[in-house]
Amino acid sequence: MQRYPFKVMPLPYHYDALEPYIDEETMRLHHDEHYQGYVNKLNEALENHPELHYLTLNDLLSNLSQVPTHIRSKVRNNGGGVLNHELYFTTLAQNTTPHGKLKEMIEKQFGSIDDFKKQMKKEALDRFGSGWAWLGNDNDGNLFIVTTPNQDTTLPMNINPIIPLDLWEHAYYLKYHNRRDEYIDNWFNVINWDQAEANYLNNIADKE
Ligand code: MN
Repeated sequence: MQRYPFKVMPLPYHYDALEPYIDEETMRLHHDEHYQGYVNKLNEALENHPELHYLTLNDLLSNLSQVPTHIRSKVRNNGGGVLNHELYFTTLAQNTTPHGKLKEMIEKQFGSIDDFKKQMKKEALDRFGSGWAWLGNDNDGNLFIVTTPNQDTTLPMNINPIIPLDLWEHAYYLKYHNRRDEYIDNWFNVINWDQAEANYLNNIADKE
């Protein structure tokens, strides 16, 4: 887990790897401009606060009250932007399928993978404005679909993220314009289920 100064995590695949579902131009803009921007602004906010430099991003965002008030919203927004995008980019890939413990839990709790998709899509469409939809788990390993506004993380809700869905227009507008529903349908094709399974197992292991 990174500490100050934060660095952009390189994309673990080429910019065009998710075509045609998520286009190359969107990925370049999203990763190189938007995500980079959050990293830069987070570092700026923390620059003159060496007392916060030993903290991981998770520590910072889980306990925002320890961050001085005059930089708190900057840390919340840009720190969330960094954490959320790291997870978003690493949970995208072509040609993976649900398997393992996560698949088992999804089927147990939602009925089927398709039922999970339906519910995830509904929550994502109901999130007004910019934000995120998430599949995550509580400390007992139970799954939840939740949404957060802006760049807020799920950490204050005590939900450990497994799969994030970026609902900011910058994630889809170039290709899908205002058709958030079409972007979501296509995003389901590029969920990295191998990473999702790893995230879930990791989340559960952390709590045992
Ligand atoms: Mn984004």
